Amino acid sequence: MRVLVQKFGGTSVSSAERRAQVAAKVSEAVQEGYSPVVVVSAIGRSGDPYATDTFINLVKGIAVDSPKREMDLLMSCGEIISGVVLTSTLKNLGLDAVLLTGGQAGIITNNCFGDARIIRVEPKNILNQLEAGRIVVVTGFQGVTEDGQITTLGRGGSDTTAAALGVALNAENIDIYTDVEGIMTADPRIVEDARILDVVTYNEICHLAHQGAKVIHPRAVEIAMQRNIPIRIKCTFSDAPGTLVTCMQPDMGVGTDITGDRTTTGIAHTPNVTQIKVPTLDTPDQLQANKQIFKGMALADISVDFISVQPEGVLFTVPDDLAEKAVKILENLGFKPSSVPGCAKVSVVGAGIAGVPGVMADLVHALSDAGVRILQSADSHTTIWVLVNKEDMISAVQALHNKFLLGT
Ligand code: ADP
Ligand code: MG
Repeated sequence: MRVLVQKFGGTSVSSAERRAQVAAKVSEAVQEGYSPVVVVSAIGRSGDPYATDTFINLVKGIAVDSPKREMDLLMSCGEIISGVVLTSTLKNLGLDAVLLTGGQAGIITNNCFGDARIIRVEPKNILNQLEAGRIVVVTGFQGVTEDGQITTLGRGGSDTTAAALGVALNAENIDIYTDVEGIMTADPRIVEDARILDVVTYNEICHLAHQGAKVIHPRAVEIAMQRNIPIRIKCTFSDAPGTLVTCMQPDMGVGTDITGDRTTTGIAHTPNVTQIKVPTLDTPDQLQANKQIFKGMALADISVDFISVQPEGVLFTVPDDLAEKAVKILENLGFKPSSVPGCAKVSVVGAGIAGVPGVMADLVHALSDAGVRILQSADSHTTIWVLVNKEDMISAVQALHNKFLLGT
């Protein structure tokens, strides 16, 4: 059996016309001899009647802290609805299809409601259906705990569902269908001349995705990489070849080079970041203060970025929606934090930039010329990322995209 996982995002299933295009992609796969496993996201984006955000808004404000377990029950409905609609569309074309929820598909997660992790996949049900000759449609973004509680996998979680199923079923490919023609050198919504990358390594896209390129969820890449299952990012609405994500560039023949990563792959951005400053100079025990600050964030499950520990104090960033919580925790610990909301993170990603001199110089040059002030910077062996004011985010991305000659 040649299993092909095909995942369709929210915009791909947002209208009857688009769902017909989805059905055509599934039908093509059948004709090519594949047994398709089709992962669907909820229909549409915020504002659409059956989108995940619409459900969340239904209960927002009723309770201060919405019950997490029940929120997952609510959020899991979006994919069930789109799954039923897509299964009916396939059946209408004479294709034999069956819908399985995450739990029915054997996706077992931990009990971290709202951001659950897949622990394992028990693919027995899917395999039985595939062997019976049916197309299996699976609701993305959800799973079930060992004791049967429905969980959701966090934003972009349908990509993770697709990758986990691809690995569990030893699929030939994991095809992620979306509204762009592949992975590009930057988000085409803000960089007009962004270029499609024909092939990228798992490594490269993983770093891009972690820095905010939401074309695929980083966890999905990590899962597919474990078994070396190729991912293809394709457009639902065209026949363009898309981007192949694999372990190596294809032109690197055997024995030529052990890494195919290019110097700079692309520019990624993450809006809605808050910078938090915690002065510690006047605290009685500064070493103790540093420990308390980061322990406080960790205990509240708040992951921090742009960490800078200095003699005067501690600086770090959190997503805007966690800033209030973070500040409260710090105040309760006796600190006097201040925060700068409305920042954005802009990153130059290139799995091959390690040890290449001049990348930081180019970055600073480009941003200075564009009049963009750098509030903070950080780097790893593959990425340099800077914090800027949100108003500067788009010009920063465009300036860096130009400077590193990534365009068409
Ligand atoms: P889906 O609903 O199909 O999962 P997403 O909105 O999650 O779609 O992801 C697709 C979007 O990712 C594109 O519309 C594009 O604006 C955005 N994007 C961000 N960075 C990139 C990039 N480097 N390459 C391609 N798309 C990108
Ligand atoms: Mg997505």
